[in-house]
Amino acid sequence: MKQRSRREILKELGIGAAVMSARPKDSPQGTVWPGARSKTSSEASAHATLMAIAAHPGDTVFTMAAAAGRQVNAGGRGVLFSLTHGEHGDPAIPPAEYGAMQVAATEKAAKILGAEALFLPYPDGELPNNEAVRFQVCDAIRKYKPDIIITHWKGSMHKDHRACYHIVGDAIFYAGLPGIKRELPAHSVSQLLFAENWEDAKGFKDDLYLDVTPVFARWVEACEAFPMWRGETGFDYDDYYKSLAVTRGALARVGQKRSNRFKVAVALMLAPSWLARPVESLPSP
Ligand SMILES: [Zn+2]
Repeated sequence: MKQRSRREILKELGIGAAVMSARPKDSPQGTVWPGARSKTSSEASAHATLMAIAAHPGDTVFTMAAAAGRQVNAGGRGVLFSLTHGEHGDPAIPPAEYGAMQVAATEKAAKILGAEALFLPYPDGELPNNEAVRFQVCDAIRKYKPDIIITHWKGSMHKDHRACYHIVGDAIFYAGLPGIKRELPAHSVSQLLFAENWEDAKGFKDDLYLDVTPVFARWVEACEAFPMWRGETGFDYDDYYKSLAVTRGALARVGQKRSNRFKVAVALMLAPSWLARPVESLPSP
């Protein structure tokens, strides 16, 4: 399978000029997940659907929703998919109550960004890394037909995040195989990316920078819907993620023409090339 250059990937994302490579002199990496297909440039569109899949509601909004909002802003569709309600995030608030707060916050955030919110009800901290979850995520992929998926990088201190990484990779594989019979027909995802998350930092690489300047104010407003955004549970998400966007924006401007410069950005990691195996070479599951 032909490995695509970063420029081709950016074109496929439908947001070409809005995205900058962090290390333009690096060799291109393959980025096709098993079960994925390559799009031709004529299929590439700003109308692409981006699905953010995370273990907890806060992860979808703090680390992935700026990209989803950017996609909506460009004429596409954004889906925020949380596999749990994150109900154990604040030990001072009963889980049922806190879970409902997290769901409400995600729905409000999605509305602010013009995206959709979607949930599975698995217990926070106990997200099962099993086939049942994989097939539920597979079904959601077949239903929403995302062109791009952003999820957790596996280098995480949180077991739910690591489980999510493995669940999503296999769900993309299942979703793309016509031989896997589900209610809906197969759908192949074109691009898998990993979000920058303070809990998933081990081995994360800032391969791409996405300009989120047009949606930054709305993304901050979306994050403010969350009860832990300002450090209520011990981590100052507000300071960290807003500063990170400024930092990534500054790095993205290095070597760029003045006309291409943008203010704030999110870093995204490409799926490593060892994952770029053509689906034909894989054994049947
Ligand atoms: Zn999390």
